[in-house]
Amino acid sequence: MIKKTGQIHILSINCGSSSVKFSIFEIPDSLGKKNPLLNAERIFSGVIEEIGTKFGEFHFKTKGKEDFGKLNFKDHSEAINFMIHKLGFNIANLNINIVVHRFVHGGDEFREPVVVTKENIVKLNGLTELAPLHNPSNLKGLKIMSGCMPHAKQVCVFDTAFHRTIPLYAGIYPIPLDYYYRYKVKRYGFHGISYSYINNLLSLNKKDIKKLIICHLGNGASICAVKNGVSVDTSMGYTPLEGLMMGTRCGDIDPSIPFILKEKLNISCEELYDILNKKSGLLGISQKTYDFKELLTYSDENSKLAFKMYVYRIIKFIGGYCAALNGIDALVFTGGIGENSSLLRKEVCKNLAYLGIKIDDRKNKKASEYFNKFDCHGKIKIRKQVKSIGGGKIPIFAVHTDEDIQMASEAVKLLFYEKRGAT
Ligand code: AMP
Repeated sequence: MIKKTGQIHILSINCGSSSVKFSIFEIPDSLGKKNPLLNAERIFSGVIEEIGTKFGEFHFKTKGKEDFGKLNFKDHSEAINFMIHKLGFNIANLNINIVVHRFVHGGDEFREPVVVTKENIVKLNGLTELAPLHNPSNLKGLKIMSGCMPHAKQVCVFDTAFHRTIPLYAGIYPIPLDYYYRYKVKRYGFHGISYSYINNLLSLNKKDIKKLIICHLGNGASICAVKNGVSVDTSMGYTPLEGLMMGTRCGDIDPSIPFILKEKLNISCEELYDILNKKSGLLGISQKTYDFKELLTYSDENSKLAFKMYVYRIIKFIGGYCAALNGIDALVFTGGIGENSSLLRKEVCKNLAYLGIKIDDRKNKKASEYFNKFDCHGKIKIRKQVKSIGGGKIPIFAVHTDEDIQMASEAVKLLFYEKRGAT
């Protein structure tokens, strides 16, 4: 346990394959048993993108101040050192107590946040095989930060952890059962940190919701069915490739298609994997862009088709999860697209009237205007991150998700509260 003296400073860091995103929070030491979400203040945030390419960029923010530019970074180490150098004076003054790392895949092993130990690093190394596109960069960040800030407690939080409650019948695939026992082939699910945050927000906002569907729609996209606060099904599976159509990922396709393509195109497994992960989805169909906002500016037939397919697949999943949950009490849209695009929300809800889902056009548009200008710096305004946009029987919410604060909050709970269990 960390001793409670002074302010607690927490750095939440998310190292992607070619990016580093971070936030620094200040939380007063007089937490008691209060939810850390209610007391936090975001004092810095930033992103470094296109690491290892010729298109490097950085963008740092603090309340009322921004610093951005183009700069190429050879690797993650160079990018993180640049981040620390940029924040140098402030970081030295702040005395970061906790560094919390986002890990996309926790495998079967990590079902809760953990403090980093030598044994845990060995186990984390063993997970690379499960998430080769994500975990190696998460590990890289952990190793670099442990070297840069040896006095800080290092904590890992896992996107898969929220889905540990998915029942076996929904969580395994109808392939020989042995592969589940021997190779742990099952539905792990992702975006769990975001889903946990939204669950917390809704309960803090005193919304009594037992059966909920959350659509996390960003460059990566997934849907989660939540019952009594826990995940019971989700659209991403063994990897983040399954489920919805995404920016560059195909989502659900006939499992035979890769075998056919491999033969017809005479390509390697790596090339095939690259096509399904990086050249499909909105990009593959529009042949113009993976970016949803940009897609909306095009009026050619392929771009319109990409939009239609994207919406259609969300509707199908919502319908499926409504059936699985035997009805729902609320529907949530979040992620860059879910939070900002009133058009997307309207088109999805159009087809769900039979469930009592009806959008209020005015509230829907206002929510997007609000979130487009939303500034997440300063005191965390959790009650302002939920906008009600429904006009029918079932409440609909647009929510600004905040994975960094959720990670910080989980780390504080792990290190300060002997018994977990506070929301
Ligand atoms: P994320 O991965 O959550 O950061 O979300 C990124 C996605 O959100 C990209 O496809 C963006 O184009 C999309 N996005 C961001 N702002 C808007 C907006 N105002 N309208 C539509 N899509 C948006």
